Amino acid sequence: MPPSADEFVLAGGTLQVRRRLVQGGFFVLFVLAPVFDLFRLDLDLGHFIFFGMDWTLGLDALIAGEIMPLEAGGNIVLRGFLPIAGIVGGVIWVSFKYGRLYCGWLCPHFSVVETLNRLTRRAIGKHSVWDKDVLPMQDKGAEAIPRHPGWWVVLLPLALAFAFIWATVLLTYLLPPMEIYNNLWHGTLTRNQALFIGVGTGLFLIEFTLARHLFCRFGCAAGLFQSLAWMANRKALVVSFDRNLSSACQDCTSACDNACPMRLKPRTIKRHMFSCTQCASCISACRDAQADGPHGVPLQWQSGIPALDKSDREQVRRNAPARRIIPLMEA
Ligand code: SF4
Ligand code: SF4
Repeated sequence: MPPSADEFVLAGGTLQVRRRLVQGGFFVLFVLAPVFDLFRLDLDLGHFIFFGMDWTLGLDALIAGEIMPLEAGGNIVLRGFLPIAGIVGGVIWVSFKYGRLYCGWLCPHFSVVETLNRLTRRAIGKHSVWDKDVLPMQDKGAEAIPRHPGWWVVLLPLALAFAFIWATVLLTYLLPPMEIYNNLWHGTLTRNQALFIGVGTGLFLIEFTLARHLFCRFGCAAGLFQSLAWMANRKALVVSFDRNLSSACQDCTSACDNACPMRLKPRTIKRHMFSCTQCASCISACRDAQADGPHGVPLQWQSGIPALDKSDREQVRRNAPARRIIPLMEA
C-alpha cells in the first residue's frame, strides 16, 4: 500500500529512491523467475510451472481413463478457473483502489521507460524524441540536468541491451531457461530460438526508442485494464491538486509536468490522467520545488472524499449554471 500524504511528507525525497529499489528488485525477479521455476510456461511440456510444481488441468488423467469426467471438471475449476479469477480479481481490486500501482512501482517495462526517459532528457532535453518542447535544464528545487548529445552513446546501446534482455527473458518464459542460456553462451541457439531473440530484440529496440510511451498508454492490456478499474472509482487514490495553494505555482517551472514520465499534466482533471502510473514523480518534484516556499505543497496523493475534487472537477464545472454576464451599466 502506498504511504498516505502524511507518511509521504515524512518519507520526503526518499520515496523515489525506494520506488527505484522496488522496481529494480522486480526487474531482477522478472529475469530470474523462469530460471528458478517460479513461474513459466514450458512449451516442451505443454503446461505452466509454478513454484517448481507442474501446473496442469489434469486432463491427461481423464484421457487415460484414470479419473471420471466429474473429477476432471472439478480439476478445471480448482486448477484453472479459481487461480485465474483470483489473480484477475486481485489486480482489479488493487487498481480500483490505488490505480496503476503495478505500472509505476513494479512493471519491468516502465522501469525501462523511465531509465530511457532520463537519458533522453540528458541527450536532447526531452522525455521523448516526439516531444515538441524542450524542458528547462533545471527545475525549481531540483538538480540541473545538463544537456549533451554525447548521451546518445549511452542511450542507444542501453536501449539495445534492454531490448536483448527482454527478448531473451521472454523466450525463457516459453522454453527451458537453462537450455536457452546454455545455447546463447555456446553460440548454439537453434534457428527458431535465434529468430525469436533477433526479431524480438529489433522490435523491442524500435519500441523502446520510438514508441515506449505509446505502448504504456494504448498498447498494454494490463495497463489499460488497471486504468479502467481506477476510473470507475471516483474515490480511488489520485494525485490531487490543492487549488488553494495554486499561488505556489506562479514562481515554479512546472516541475511536476516536467517530471512526469508519462508526459501528463498532474494538475489537470482525473480523466486527462487516465494513464497515470502513480509513480509520484510529480509529487516529489513539487515537494522539491516548494521545499523552502511558504505556500505548502499543492500536489498530494489523496483518496476517499478528498479525491472527489479531482474526479468530479470537470463534472461540477459542467453542471454549474452558466455565469450571467452583467452588463456594465447594470453593474
Ligand atoms: S501524473 Fe504524477 S503520478 Fe501520474 S504518471 Fe505522471 S508523475 Fe507519475
Ligand atoms: S504543482 Fe508544484 S511542481 Fe507543479 S507547478 Fe505547482 S508548485 Fe510547481
